Amino acid sequence: CGIFGYVGPREAEPILVDGLRRLEYRGYDSAGMVTLTGRHLHLRKTAGRVGDLANHVADKPAPGCIGISHTRWATHGAATDCNAHPHLAGSGDSLVAVVHNGVIENYQSLKRQLEAAGVVFRSQTDTEVIAQLLAFHHDGDLLATVRRVLPMLKGTYGLAIVSPRDPNTIVAARLGSPLVLGIGDCEHYLSSDPAALIGHTSKVVYLRDGQLAVIREDDFQIEDIHTGPVDARVETIDWEL
Ligand code: GLU
Repeated sequence: CGIFGYVGPREAEPILVDGLRRLEYRGYDSAGMVTLTGRHLHLRKTAGRVGDLANHVADKPAPGCIGISHTRWATHGAATDCNAHPHLAGSGDSLVAVVHNGVIENYQSLKRQLEAAGVVFRSQTDTEVIAQLLAFHHDGDLLATVRRVLPMLKGTYGLAIVSPRDPNTIVAARLGSPLVLGIGDCEHYLSSDPAALIGHTSKVVYLRDGQLAVIREDDFQIEDIHTGPVDARVETIDWEL
C-alpha cells in the first residue's frame, strides 16, 4: 500500500518511520522496514500499526543509512507478522529484500515452478514470489537480475529492492503502481506518494510504467526496462498549490 525509502548520510530508521506515518492515511494492516549496514540486513516488521513498528525498532534498533519500508494492505495472505513486508529470500550473495505495492496475478504458477526447483516459501503473499525469483536468478548483479525477472511478472507493482551484495543501492521499479524519487542534498528518497516528501525535498522524478530507478546516496539513474537508460525529467513540486 505505501512505500518509503531512503539512502543518504543520515540514519534511515527515523526517516522511514516518519515516512510511513505520512502514508498512514491510505489505510494498512501491517508495517515493516529493512535497513543495511554494509552486508548486514536488519529486518523489522509486524502486523498492526506504524506505532507498533516504531515500538519494535525502539526495542531493537535497525541501524544504517539506507533502507526501505512498507505499509501493507493485504491482498494475498492474512495480515500476519510473517506476511508483512519486506520479504527476504536467498542467502549470502543472493540475499534480497523486497517491498511491493500491487498484485502479482501469476504468482501461483511462478511459485509452483520455484517450489518444483526446491525453493521453500515462508509466507502466503504474492509478493514473496518476487523476492524468491530475484534470489533464484541472482547472478551477482542485482540490476541485471531485476531486469531479467520483472518481465516474468504479470500484474501491478511498485517495488523497492535492496541486497547486501550491493549495499549502497536501492532498486525501484514501477508498473501500474505509483513511485516517485525525491532528490535531496546528497541523499535520495523513494515514495509511493509525493506528499510524503514534504519538508524533505521538492525536487522529484516520477517513475513511469516500465521504468526502473537505481538510487544511491549521491546519484541515480532511470531506465526503461526494455530499452535502457532514459533522461530523467526532474520536476519541482510547488507545495503551496
Ligand atoms: N499484494 C501484496 C500483499 O498482499 C501487496 C499489498 C499492498 O499493496 O500493500 O502482500
